[in-house]
Amino acid sequence: MPIERNISPQPPEEGEKLRITPPPKSATGIPSVLKSLGYALEEMGPVRAAQSLLAANQKDGFDCPSCAWPDPEGHRHMAEFCENGAKAIASEATTKRVTPEFFKQWSVSALSKQSDLWLNEQGRLTQPMLLREGADHYERIGWRDAFQMIGQELKGLASPDEAIFYTSGRTSNEAAFLYQLFVRMYGTNNLPDCSNMCHESSGYGLRETIGVGKSTVTLEELENTDCIFVIGQNPGTNHPRMLGSLQTAVNRGATIVSINPLPEVGLQRFKHPQQILSVLGSGTALAKLLLQVRINGDVAVLKGIMKLLVEADALDHQFIQEHTSGYEEFATALAQTSWDEILKESGVSRAKIAEAAEIVKKSKNMIICWAMGLTQHKNAVENVRELVNLLLLRGNIGRQNAGVCCVRGHSNVQGDRTMGIWEKMDQGFMERLGQEFHFDPPRKHGYNTVESIKAMHDGTAKVFIALGGNFLSATPDTVYTAQAMQKCRLTVQISTKLNRSHLVTGNTALILPCLGRTEVDGQESGPQFVTVENSMGVVSASTGPLQPASEELMSEPAIVAGIAASTLGGKIPWQKLMGDYDSIREHISHVVAGFEDFNRKVRTPGGFRLDNPASRRVFGTESGKANFTVNPIRPIPLSTGEFIMMTIRSHDQFNTTVYGNDDRYRGIRGGRRVVFLNREDLLDAGLIAEQRVDLISTFGGEERIAERFTIVPYDIPRRCAATYFPETNVLVPLDSFADKSGTPTSKSVVIRLRASAN
Ligand code: SF4
Repeated sequence: MPIERNISPQPPEEGEKLRITPPPKSATGIPSVLKSLGYALEEMGPVRAAQSLLAANQKDGFDCPSCAWPDPEGHRHMAEFCENGAKAIASEATTKRVTPEFFKQWSVSALSKQSDLWLNEQGRLTQPMLLREGADHYERIGWRDAFQMIGQELKGLASPDEAIFYTSGRTSNEAAFLYQLFVRMYGTNNLPDCSNMCHESSGYGLRETIGVGKSTVTLEELENTDCIFVIGQNPGTNHPRMLGSLQTAVNRGATIVSINPLPEVGLQRFKHPQQILSVLGSGTALAKLLLQVRINGDVAVLKGIMKLLVEADALDHQFIQEHTSGYEEFATALAQTSWDEILKESGVSRAKIAEAAEIVKKSKNMIICWAMGLTQHKNAVENVRELVNLLLLRGNIGRQNAGVCCVRGHSNVQGDRTMGIWEKMDQGFMERLGQEFHFDPPRKHGYNTVESIKAMHDGTAKVFIALGGNFLSATPDTVYTAQAMQKCRLTVQISTKLNRSHLVTGNTALILPCLGRTEVDGQESGPQFVTVENSMGVVSASTGPLQPASEELMSEPAIVAGIAASTLGGKIPWQKLMGDYDSIREHISHVVAGFEDFNRKVRTPGGFRLDNPASRRVFGTESGKANFTVNPIRPIPLSTGEFIMMTIRSHDQFNTTVYGNDDRYRGIRGGRRVVFLNREDLLDAGLIAEQRVDLISTFGGEERIAERFTIVPYDIPRRCAATYFPETNVLVPLDSFADKSGTPTSKSVVIRLRASAN
């Protein structure tokens, strides 16, 4: 008799008592060192902690599985990791285990009532597990049976387009290349990835304007430039080692300007954990100027700066004439933009905007860094195009120590896209892939993340396979997405640790446990290494030092090969490919531009940097030049009582993985269900600090509700609100996404508040 599952798709409230304290005055320093060591020792013990942490981000070690911040080319410190890197490594290399006995004890329904923190704390998955239709407990299954089950299901679909193949940004180049090959040989381009939800808008904005969707600068250039704008980004929490590079830049004379709704402590003052004087002293002041912009007021503030540069004729006319197109149209539209509009929509004073313009004028070279604060809005592509306008005005593209730096979130999200993980891969790639493997890849575009969710929800897609990640918690509109997953016939998660996507499943579900970045990957030809590409286009090798968490784990390439072989048979020698990753890299070198002679180049200590034509002023746009664009200010209308809400991460989390319930840099302890609001807004609305409220978003006539959040008065612009994800993903409407890129608008959700019933 099948048992009804009683599943909750959203994380429950924490049991701890929430404490709100003033945010600290500086980032990292001694608290950060203690936190890293404490977490590492608790999870791994001293021996594994030393073995793993000392190999992190070293030339002969493994790439940190957390963010995609680059490593120094030359000398590397013994401890080349940050607090969050240490947490990610400890979380993966933990000695705790989730065994088949654990699943006997815990039903899926019971697990779904546990918090994300609790789920992550249970340890590493050790064996493939099957959740049968109607059952409430996972049970053990052998690898061969699991592969057969997936193969049969895929072969039984009426069309390959009925299957979705998601990829998370931790997947190695080798696994990603093999995966997209299998998916395209199977017959679909349904390859959504986490990039759809983060920097997709950057890719579109950059390709339209400079012809390449990646950062144009190197780490060395960032550390030697004169001026750095950090827009919509919180490096102290999301890319902590970036603070070290910013400190170096400041010490060499650079000026940093932060444009952000929240004053992030990391950008205010930084104590370098590897420098004893810095740790003990007061640290380095990083951002000289904070433009505390309203949420999505970035285009307005950039226009203000550019107006002043144009008025002062502080432009590089020769560059504009020789290397750009569209200046006249851009300049006309800029002249027509009124200061009233700029000041109202940016929320920043004219004096502050003038200060920023002066900094730009005085700087010979300038780099702009940004992250999700720009890319998760309806006009996100325009946000990116507008920052390119600012750089083009003074020739700050394609010159040494100048350019764009889109700071990627997950460690190999950029590499996965380079390897072909995209629902709209270009024709040149498809032709080379087809020639290399003697088949005709499908040309019809596949589903992106939002489209995939809709296809599962309406029954068009029936099988969902995720190569890593936590799809349910990463995606918008949680309740709708949960329904979509539950309508699938089969969902498959290739994972290292337990997460919510294992609990909200299709009729039948599989968990396939894989090796982590920190572990030895032994295959038929001997120990293997994998490769990754960082935010600045450097491709390097990654070799794990630790014994695998279980003898039954398989590597991601081996799992992909197993699924492919059982679905497609022997069209490709899958076993041979998984037995020797050099052979996968050999194919990559024939298919992926810039990877010629891959096996030799990647064995150079530190790897190699992919060519970026825009950094040589070769612009692969239709005009053959860098394009100025016209990007109107797009106000988000708010009725009385409404706020624009952005979702953010806490300091104790990386993407959807929660390591703790604190957000030290914002003064929050012991809880995640908080909403940061401006004090004056509270007075106006008759609300008080620490009051419990429900958050309600209305979109397309539908209400979405997130219940019982505690109000935290905070230094945030009027009519703006901030909350942590995934708790408030439930408020992000699936149909609200960026023009062109399709990125969900997680940074501009219109909400209202009501007092909670309890
Ligand atoms: S900055 Fe990013 S990649 Fe570097 S150690 Fe920290 S989390 Fe890992």
